[in-house]
Amino acid sequence: MEDKEWNRKLLRAQLLSCKRNYRKTKNNIFLNDIEALEALLDDKILVFETDNNFKQKLEDDINIANCYMDYYTAIQRFYIDSAFIKIFPRITYDRLDNSIQILTEFLSDFYNKIGGVWAKYFNDTFRHRKDNLAFGKERSWSIFAPSIDYCYIYSGNDGSIMDYFNLVHEYAHAVSDRMNGRPRCYENNILLETIPLTFELIAADEIVDFFEGLDEEVIKYNIVNCATIILSARRVVKFTNYIGHAKKILPFIPTMLDMMFYTKSSLKCAKKILQEAHIERLIYTLSFLVAIELYYFYKSDPEKALNIMEAINQLYTPDGIIQTLEDNNIMINEHSEAFVNDSFESYYIKKLIPFDI
Ligand SMILES: [Zn+2]
Repeated sequence: MEDKEWNRKLLRAQLLSCKRNYRKTKNNIFLNDIEALEALLDDKILVFETDNNFKQKLEDDINIANCYMDYYTAIQRFYIDSAFIKIFPRITYDRLDNSIQILTEFLSDFYNKIGGVWAKYFNDTFRHRKDNLAFGKERSWSIFAPSIDYCYIYSGNDGSIMDYFNLVHEYAHAVSDRMNGRPRCYENNILLETIPLTFELIAADEIVDFFEGLDEEVIKYNIVNCATIILSARRVVKFTNYIGHAKKILPFIPTMLDMMFYTKSSLKCAKKILQEAHIERLIYTLSFLVAIELYYFYKSDPEKALNIMEAINQLYTPDGIIQTLEDNNIMINEHSEAFVNDSFESYYIKKLIPFDI
C-alpha cells in the first residue's frame, strides 16, 4: 500500500492559530498543542521520541510503578505458564489484499455498528480522514490536540490482519480523547489502553463476520495477544521484584551512553529498549486484563458494556475505573484464563501449525 500523508497545509494553519491564541491567552493548553503540531510537521513522532537518558527513564518508570503497586497483584495472578510462549514465535500472518478503501470500509462499518456516542464521535473524526489519517510502515499512534479538538491518526500498515486492528485501536484513542476532551497521560491513568484494546477484541469477532476466510488470521491474532500479555506479565513480575532493590542502586544506574557501551548497541537499538520500557508493558498488560472482562461483558450485554466503557472513559484515575468495574460486578482475571484457553483450543482445532510441542 502507498504511504499516505495528512494535510500539511491544514496542519500549518492550525499551528499558526494555536501560536496566535497562546500569545493572547498564555494558556498552556495551546503550548502543548504547538509542541505536538510542530513535531508532526517535522515528521517526529513525539509519543515515541524521548531523549531522556536511561537513568531518567528508569527513575520515571519506578516512580510511576510505585504509585500502582496495588495493581500488580492482578498481573501476578495472571502470571501463568503456557504453551503459547513456544508457539508464538512461529506465527506469521498471511499477506492480505488490504487497500485503504477496504480497511476504511471495515472501520466505518465497525464503529457504526457499535453505534451511540462512539459512532457519533467516530463519524465526526472519520469524515476528516483525507486530512487527518495517514498510513505508513512505522508503529501506529494517534495524537489529540485539545485546544482545536482535532486528532491526527497514523496507522501502521504491513499488509496483514494487524492493519485492521491498528486502525480500530487508534480510532478508539481518537474517539475517547475527543469524548473526554483531554490529552492522554499515562502517569495519571495506567488503564488508558483499556478502551482501544476492548474495541480490538470486539473487532476480532466482527472481522470474522465481515470477511470470509479470515477466521484463521483472527485466531493467530488472539494467540499473539495471549502470548504477549503472558510474556509482559512475566516481565512485570520480575520488575516488581527489582523495584525492591532499585532505590539502593539508583545513583549508579547507567546513562543511555553507558547502556549502549555495555550492550554494544546502536542508538536506534537503545531507543527500542526504552520503548519497551517496563511501564509500557504494565499499561498494556493491566489494560488488557480489563479489556478481556469488558469483552466478555459485551458479548452478554453490548449496550451496558458500552455504557460502562463510556463511564470509565470519563474517569481520570485507575482507582475510579476499578471502582466502576466493581460496581458492575466486573472482576479482573475472571475470564482471562478462559480467554487464553479458548484461543488455544481454536488454534489446536485448526492445527494452524504442526502441533508437536
Ligand atoms: Zn494505544
